[in-house]
Amino acid sequence: MSMIFERKLPIPMDVKERYPLSAELEQIVAKRACELRDIFTGKSDKLVLVIGPCSADHEDSVIDYISRLRTLQDKVQDKIFIVPRIYTNKPRTTGDGYKGMLHQPDPDAKPDMYKGIVAIRQLHMRALQETGFSCADEMLYPENYRYLSDILAYVAIGARSVENQQHRLTSSGLDVPVGMKNPTSGDLSVMMNAITAAQHKHTFIYRNWEVNSEGNPLAHAILRGYMNKHGQSLPNYHYEDLVHLCDIYAKSGLTNPALIVDTNHANSGKKYLEQVRIAKEVLHSCRHNSDINKLVKGFMIESYIEDGAQKIGEHVYGKSITDPCLGWAKTERLVLDLADLR
Ligand code: PEP
Ligand code: MN
Repeated sequence: MSMIFERKLPIPMDVKERYPLSAELEQIVAKRACELRDIFTGKSDKLVLVIGPCSADHEDSVIDYISRLRTLQDKVQDKIFIVPRIYTNKPRTTGDGYKGMLHQPDPDAKPDMYKGIVAIRQLHMRALQETGFSCADEMLYPENYRYLSDILAYVAIGARSVENQQHRLTSSGLDVPVGMKNPTSGDLSVMMNAITAAQHKHTFIYRNWEVNSEGNPLAHAILRGYMNKHGQSLPNYHYEDLVHLCDIYAKSGLTNPALIVDTNHANSGKKYLEQVRIAKEVLHSCRHNSDINKLVKGFMIESYIEDGAQKIGEHVYGKSITDPCLGWAKTERLVLDLADLR
């Protein structure tokens, strides 16, 4: 056999029993879930920022970064609701390269999936315990979701996964907002179909169980820009793009129309410094058009301690080893500015 079954891994229930959330932490998660729900249902007009490094590569620098977000959150709490990104599994365009903490808890060492499962749960728990933030992660592997299902505040379905049936069906059973990214091709119907699928009820197989999902009314859109057939990055955050999405949503009959604008990826063409201008432009569009203002719930921003990115093995503290990120000083400035503009 060309696939070697190395060892059997503990199921989510076992890992949760071994590393349980305290009642106090459970309460923080529940309270934040209510606040976030109120934003996606339109009861609150706070701006959501799903913000943090492209990949949660090292526990110490990620916790350092999120602790800084805590101080910043307290300054802008009337206007902004921060959900730190702790992205523990990374989709790779060719399949090669660093696949995230789940695969490599030490980015310089060999993959170790058991250590990875424990490392990602401990990192999300530590962020909650030390900073009071429940965080966001990408659901790259739907069957792994339940290792973190009691901790996460927000889940994204990536541009490379959004057309996949199992991602859509699993999303329909989640209690938290799930953001469906537009696919790398930019075809918005794929994203809208994913939102429809996630908002509906389904019966399906999940981790060897027959399950029934209730449908997730908080499933919504994320625009992240796209690639054309010549391999060029093109944005989809401009005024006309937002008007177009308002129109599509109006015709769709979907519940809780909502958009998070991803300011990096193909929207910035990974020119990460452009994230500042992009976020401000979108807020300008919000001021200009009340439909856009209602639709846009916030931003996804790639941000870390140092500006830019480095290669694995370079070891600059707090600098991304995947997509380039906005450094801390510029991030702090941006978040304060967004609070003023809101
Ligand atoms: C990300 O958010 O880091 C990411 C991988 O996004 P996308 O799926 O849009 O490429
Ligand atoms: Mn990224």
